[in-house]
Amino acid sequence: MIFTDTHTHLYVDTFDADIADVIDRANAHNIKRFFIPAIDSETTEAMYALEKKYPEQVFLMMGLHPTSVKADYKNELKHVEEELDKREFYAIGEIGIDLYWDSSLLKEQQAAFRHQIKLAKKYKLPIVIHCRNAFDEVFEILEEEKSDDLFGIFHCFTGTHKQAIKAIGYNLKLGIGGVLTFKNGKIDKFMSEIDLSHIVLETDSPYLAPTPYRGKRNESAYLMKVAKKLADLHQVSLEEVAKITTENSNQIFGVS
Ligand SMILES: [Zn+2]
Repeated sequence: MIFTDTHTHLYVDTFDADIADVIDRANAHNIKRFFIPAIDSETTEAMYALEKKYPEQVFLMMGLHPTSVKADYKNELKHVEEELDKREFYAIGEIGIDLYWDSSLLKEQQAAFRHQIKLAKKYKLPIVIHCRNAFDEVFEILEEEKSDDLFGIFHCFTGTHKQAIKAIGYNLKLGIGGVLTFKNGKIDKFMSEIDLSHIVLETDSPYLAPTPYRGKRNESAYLMKVAKKLADLHQVSLEEVAKITTENSNQIFGVS
């Protein structure tokens, strides 16, 4: 039985001092695989350094995060393409639309999202979507770009039951993290109605720590809080949750 953290930013500097302990604590819970989303060109070197340290356990993605889409985003997309040409990655991510922090660059975010979906198709990779205050905008582009070869993960899914069904319809798994454990997180209300075959687990470390660590630094070991909550809601064993969600992630990222 192994668990997979499908979304964890273990390369950010808040982990610099104790990354070995962070990995050890996760491994102690059988969390053995860490899928690492990119943010922008400034995080690339740190991702490579992390991979060098833990080559068996760390799997990198490449992409431009929507909150890093600025006026110079075309240069950033060039960097993404250069890295994709150079070496292997497991997904294009994280990509998408975020209107929570800043909505003034919506057009640029849409263009970057579309462009990176095309890259995913070109490189036959899954996409990992970040969506904040932007369900309509994200779905609009998925509707334009949908095809049999477009697939991936709707990361940190926080939508409604209806939006969950819609995301699944676009060949996407739902990335479920700490929000599932929040009192006002809402997704716990319908999660038992979503078949486990559509779900992958994630922490989004260092952000969005689950209850009872809410507000503190998140780390991959806390994936267990999410897994336990999901097991309770679905009334299955933790082993069953591990088995199905890891199988789902293997299928998406093309690992075995
Ligand atoms: Zn993230």
